[in-house]
Amino acid sequence: MSIDFAAMPDEQGYFGEYGGQVIPPELKQIMDDINEAYERVIQTPEFQQELAMLNADYTGRPSPVYLARRLSDHLGGARIFFKREDLNHTGAHKINHCLGEALLAKYMGKTKVLAETGAGQHGVALATACALVGIDCEIHMGQVDIEKEHPNVTKMKILGCKLVPVTRGTATLKDAVDSAFEEYLKDPQNYFYAIGSVVGPHPFPKMVRDFQSIVGREAREQFLKREGRLPDLITACVGGGSNAIGLFTAFLEDEEVKIVGVEPAGLGLETDQHAATLTLGKKGAIHGFECYNLQDEQGNPLPVYSIASGLDYPGVGPQHCYLKDIERVQYETATDTECLDAFMTLSRMEGIIPALESAHAIAYAMRVAPQMDPQQSILVNLSGRGDKDADFVAEKLGL
Ligand SMILES: *Cc1c(COP(=O)(O)O)cnc(C)c1O
Repeated sequence: MSIDFAAMPDEQGYFGEYGGQVIPPELKQIMDDINEAYERVIQTPEFQQELAMLNADYTGRPSPVYLARRLSDHLGGARIFFKREDLNHTGAHKINHCLGEALLAKYMGKTKVLAETGAGQHGVALATACALVGIDCEIHMGQVDIEKEHPNVTKMKILGCKLVPVTRGTATLKDAVDSAFEEYLKDPQNYFYAIGSVVGPHPFPKMVRDFQSIVGREAREQFLKREGRLPDLITACVGGGSNAIGLFTAFLEDEEVKIVGVEPAGLGLETDQHAATLTLGKKGAIHGFECYNLQDEQGNPLPVYSIASGLDYPGVGPQHCYLKDIERVQYETATDTECLDAFMTLSRMEGIIPALESAHAIAYAMRVAPQMDPQQSILVNLSGRGDKDADFVAEKLGL
């Protein structure tokens, strides 16, 4: 394969026919300014050194690559390894791009970082990064979500961010996006909008990917060092797609490595209760960019569902759409039931409670490992820890 993946996206922010800037002209200027500033700032030794120092001393990078011996023996096939993003400060991969974005905002001289949050994971990671960097943070969150996600709401308050409850419409994520964006447009010169995955208009899919790609760079080197070869298969769950692209980027040119992204099949692909965007979506524009998405006949985003709230997004990162079309990455699904089974199995065989999001990738690895031979290996991105899901799962399973 002689595709220069590192040269993507193009100047207009396209990965093949996906991505770009499907936004009004006045917003395009703002996005182009961010892109220009981003490209300039990330070249500077000051920025690079500060981010490297924070990744190491604050987040605790590099996160380990761990061989799950008991789980692998139990399944009786390929050996399963985990890239332990769950061990990062704040417990997931999201801190990687939140630190990058907060630091970029500071270097750009912005006075406030803004974002929406659904279940609160992005909000907590961003509030953390802003507290550290010393920049004001304002998070918009639907009133319905505020009532559901008590621990994350409390954390955001403790971390000192301004939490804005959104009561309009359905008072959930979609309304929080609109509300946060309206606030942003009041002063885009001084505010920075921090997107929480590899989605949105250019340059966000590129920027978030670059900040997350440390996951794959570390993992590839760690794996080579301990095994003397690359894994046969790497896999990660896909919501917007940031943890997956973070792992995949370093391996795209390694033709011998099979790459699989795992989407949430929820209650089943035959129901309308899933968020399998790449598997069942159509091409179209959503939230300022072109991608596969789940939409109705009129082209409006459909409500989506997953047991893992971090995966229920009706669109998906443009680079994943491109990688699917050129068949470099294969996209599979796991249901809620398989996810819960993986969640419990990993907890009981390895003493690691995974996030329900990550459990989708674990479920896929558990499905295919027995069909592979013990000389082979699977590397799973364990994108986050499951403390946030423990009460919910215990109740669901009657523990
Ligand atoms: C938010 C989240 C995800 C989903 O987001 P991506 O952008 O698809 O990575 C996955 N895992 C965890 C632990 C999360 O918090």
